[in-house]
Amino acid sequence: MNIHEYQAKGLLADYGVPVPSGYAATTAEEVDSAIAKIEGDLIVVKAQIHAGGRGKGTFTDGYKGGVKVVKDAAAAKDAAAAMLNNTLVTAQTGPAGRKVQTLYITEGCDIAHEYYLAIVLDRETAQAVIIASTEGGMDIEAVAEKTPEKITRVPVSPSTGIRPHHCREVAFSLGFAGDQVKQLSKILVGVYKMFWEKNAMLVEINPLITTPEGEVVALDAKVSFDGNAVFKHADILALRDLNEEDPKEIEASKYDLAYIALDGNIACMVNGAGLAMATMDIIQSFGGSPANFLDVGGGANEEKVTAAFKIILSDPNVKGILVNIFGGIMKCDVIARGVVAAAKNIDLNVPLVVRLEGTNVEAGKKILSESGIALTPADSLVHAAELIVKQVNG
Ligand code: GDP
Ligand code: MN
Repeated sequence: MNIHEYQAKGLLADYGVPVPSGYAATTAEEVDSAIAKIEGDLIVVKAQIHAGGRGKGTFTDGYKGGVKVVKDAAAAKDAAAAMLNNTLVTAQTGPAGRKVQTLYITEGCDIAHEYYLAIVLDRETAQAVIIASTEGGMDIEAVAEKTPEKITRVPVSPSTGIRPHHCREVAFSLGFAGDQVKQLSKILVGVYKMFWEKNAMLVEINPLITTPEGEVVALDAKVSFDGNAVFKHADILALRDLNEEDPKEIEASKYDLAYIALDGNIACMVNGAGLAMATMDIIQSFGGSPANFLDVGGGANEEKVTAAFKIILSDPNVKGILVNIFGGIMKCDVIARGVVAAAKNIDLNVPLVVRLEGTNVEAGKKILSESGIALTPADSLVHAAELIVKQVNG
């Protein structure tokens, strides 16, 4: 689960990390009162969307930049008016962009240097890793690709937690000395504590800056939480912004369906995450392109299967459906009845290929063939993928 920059900075501040003061705004009135509260002579207007690269982004009406640093209230109001309810396209949003429904108005800082700092969960070593670089700012992906030696990684074992030597190692790799080592250590301890206590998967501060006066400040923040742990944190769940989520994914979560929208045209309905991944791969290997990941789970009933059909068909890109079910605990005749009920319930106007295998497969196939529904049965996953790709791509 992702949250906005302003929410992430609020959390960081709770953990003792210095952030510029700022106010979120969703209307012109809130923008005005936020601007009036800013002290100092630099104001930053920042589009709040769950995607990075805002500084280098462009709005669909041609307005450039989702982060504007300006010198007075009038310019801040202009920037805010240009961004609010406009659609911002960045390297991370995809070509459709994201509608900006919230702005963050912050006090501006003078920057001596921009650094990169993050803590991520490293699945390979099953521990948190601090990632730091002197090359912070807007092009960290390019740094990672072209000059990976400029990125320092310091693993933190969950059995020790963060220790002073971790902090010193990171601080020295950034060239910090004296008081800045202390400031960075305090920041790292706060970020780690937040990462750990809130079950985050990523806390990224890019840039972390030094000011000409030598202060170390978090200027941007991106935080994402483990979706499987977020139920433990009511305060984090309260930060969820449904405006930032795909409506199809919200609908799917109501039925406990693991659904992720993709940009292809072959919808998949599969039981089991691994089988769903394999199904997507095999569609791709036949030259097709999956419209979604969907794991209906082990306990799918008629209601769930119908909901799943409705969700995948609400995607206008879908030109065909591949149902791939391995009946284990879930029996093939149950899923077949679900498919039949769903297909009768909704207007199924695209080709449907169904592959069933496993427990009660013969009974399942009989139900499908006697249903009168226009579908193509397939015996193997390879055959099924080949059929649906042929029907969709012609
Ligand atoms: P992103 O493009 O989505 O990563 O948005 P950021 O919040 O990181 O802002 C992009 C860039 O804007 C930063 O790397 C800074 O160079 C600049 N920026 C953001 N806030 C300030 C500020 O307070 N003062 C100055 N001078 N620049 C800022
Ligand atoms: Mn940034």
